[in-house]
Amino acid sequence: MRYAELFLPTLKDVPSEAEVISHQYMLRAGMIRKVASGIYSFLPVGLRALRKVENAIREEMNRAGAQEVFLPSVQPAELWEETGRWDLMGDEMLRFKDRHQRDFCYGPTHEEVVTDLVRREVRSYRDLPLNLYQIQTKFRDEIRPRFGLMRGREFSMKDAYSFDRDEEGAEKSYWIMFEAYKRIFTRMGLDFRPVEAETGNIGGAFSHEFMVLADSGEDSIVFCTSCDYAANIEKAEILPAPDSDQRPGGETQADLQLVETREKRTVEDVTRFLGVDASQLIKTLVYHTEKGDYAILVRGNREANEYKIKKVLGVDTAALAGPEEVKEILGVPAGYVGPVGMSLPILADEEIRAMGNVVVGANKEDHHYLHFEPARDLKDARFADLRVAVEGDACPRCGKKMEERRGIEVGHVFMLGTKYSETLRATYLDPEGKERPVWMGCYGIGVGRTLAAAIEQNHDSDGIIFPFPIAPFTVILTALNPQDAKIQTIAEGLYTALQQKGVEVLLDDRDERPGKKFKDADLIGIPLRVTVGPRQLKEGKIEVKLRKEAEAITVPVEGAVDHILGLLEDHGQTHKASF
Ligand code: ATP
Ligand code: MG
Repeated sequence: MRYAELFLPTLKDVPSEAEVISHQYMLRAGMIRKVASGIYSFLPVGLRALRKVENAIREEMNRAGAQEVFLPSVQPAELWEETGRWDLMGDEMLRFKDRHQRDFCYGPTHEEVVTDLVRREVRSYRDLPLNLYQIQTKFRDEIRPRFGLMRGREFSMKDAYSFDRDEEGAEKSYWIMFEAYKRIFTRMGLDFRPVEAETGNIGGAFSHEFMVLADSGEDSIVFCTSCDYAANIEKAEILPAPDSDQRPGGETQADLQLVETREKRTVEDVTRFLGVDASQLIKTLVYHTEKGDYAILVRGNREANEYKIKKVLGVDTAALAGPEEVKEILGVPAGYVGPVGMSLPILADEEIRAMGNVVVGANKEDHHYLHFEPARDLKDARFADLRVAVEGDACPRCGKKMEERRGIEVGHVFMLGTKYSETLRATYLDPEGKERPVWMGCYGIGVGRTLAAAIEQNHDSDGIIFPFPIAPFTVILTALNPQDAKIQTIAEGLYTALQQKGVEVLLDDRDERPGKKFKDADLIGIPLRVTVGPRQLKEGKIEVKLRKEAEAITVPVEGAVDHILGLLEDHGQTHKASF
C-alpha cells in the first residue's frame, strides 16, 4: 500500500473527548471515527488491525475444534421470551418492531439463537460434542459508553458455544476454550491473567474472565502473591483476618452512648467529626430484594458486594435503596440508619463479628451511637462474606496476602450447564434412546476491546507500538525525498521485493518533510521502519529501526531484503500476508 493513496487522516492534537490512551491514539492514527455515542466507523488502518485480531482468534478457535458460523444480528423476541431474558435484559437491549409490529432486538449476545439452531438440528448423542462460533456485531445500549472501542454500544465479538452430552464433556470443552484463550492473548503479546468471575445476566455454574492488566482498566482484580488464586473483585472470596487486626484500641465494653451528629450524613463527615477512622464505623445499607428489604452491615471503609448479597440471600435482584426510599421504609434519614432497634432483618459482613467499640447510626435523625459492640449488641444478625475484596485481604485458598490490580476484560468463558438447554428444550437421545438436555458453555472475546487493550499496553508518548501479530502493516518503508531518482528506485525495489515475500508494507511515498514522516510512522505504530534516505545511501546503506527500540541500525542496500526478513522471522513473522 502506498501512503499517498491511503485513506489515513491523522490528527496532531489529542481529541478532547478521548480520556484513555488507546482511544486517543486510535483517533489520532486515523483508525476509527465516532458516528454516535459508542458507535464507530473503522477506517482502513483500523480495520486492518481489527482483522488481525479476528484472524488470530479465528485460527485458534479452528485449531481448538470450533466451527465458524454466522448467526443473525436481528433476533425475534419470541426466543428471548422463552428464556425469560426479554424482560431481564432491561434497557441494555435495543428493541424494535418490524412492519408487522412484531418485536425484535439487535442481538446483545447469541445464546438463544444458537440454542434454537441446535435444538432443531441435533438429535443424537452422535451429533455431540459440537462447538460453534462466530465473529459478529453486537449491540448493547450501555449506560455509559466510553473509552472508544473499550466500551462501545455497537461492537464486534467472537462468541462461541459448546454443546456436550454431559457435565464431564462440558467441562472438557470449557478447558479447551480456556487454553485456546490463553494462546490467543499470548500470541498477541498481551500481559493478561485469567481470573475467577461472576456470571451476571448470562448465568451458569462458573466462569473466568481474561483480564489484560492496565491501569486504565474498568475492572479490579485481586490475585494471591503466593498461590495462583486470582479473581475479579466482584467475585473474590475473603478469608476473615485475625481479630487483632480489627479491634480498635481505647476503652471497650463501655455502654452505648448516643451522640449528636447534626448534618453529618456520610462516613467521611461522621468519622471526621467524631475523630475516628472509617474502619471504626459500621455502615448500614438498605437493599431491596424480591424477598423483601434487608439491612446490610459493612465496615465504614468497605464496599458491599451486591453479588455476594444476592448469593447469600438466594435472590435474583438486590438493589441499594436510595435516600428517599430509606426514609420511607425506616422513617430515618439514610445517614443515621443503624442496627440498634432495626426493624429489617440484618445481614452483617463477617469482618464485623470481631470488631469492637465502633460507631453506628442511631436510627434517630442527627444521631449516632458510640461504643457499639457487635458481640453484645448484634444478637439477631446473620453473618456472611458480603464485602468487596481489596488489596491486602487474605487469599481464600492459602491465607497469604492478595494484591489488587486494574484490568480490561477482553474475554469471558462461562460454564452454562443446562440453563439454556432446559428452558429452550435442546435435547438429544442418548445410546439407550433416553432424552437428555445438552450441556452448554459459552465463550466471548471483544475484538475491538482487545485491540484497544493491546494499545493500552503497547505505546509511548509518540504513539502506538503495535505488537507484530496485530499490526496493520508489518513494515513502513519511508522514502525520504522521494523525488530523488536513486532513492525512488531503491525504495520501489524494496517495496516490490518485500511484497513478493508476502510482507505487508506501507510505502511512505508522500512529498512530506522527513520529520513529519517519522512522526506519523511513530503515531501509527508500525513495528518495523525501513528508511531510504540520502545520508545513508551515500554509503550504500539504508536504515532499519524497530518501533519499540530507540536506536536504528544501518544495513547495506544489497542484502537488505534478507536482513529485514531475518528480523521479521526473529519476531515470529512468517511473511505470509493474511490478505
Ligand atoms: P462488561 O463487564 O465489560 O460489561 P460483559 O461481562 O457484559 O462485559 P460479556 O457478556 O462477557 O461482557 O461479553 C464478552 C466480551 O465482549 C467481553 O469480555 C468484552 O471483551 C466484550 N464486550 C462486552 N461489552 C462490550 C462493550 N460494551 N464494548 C466492547 N466490548 C465489549
Ligand atoms: Mg463478562
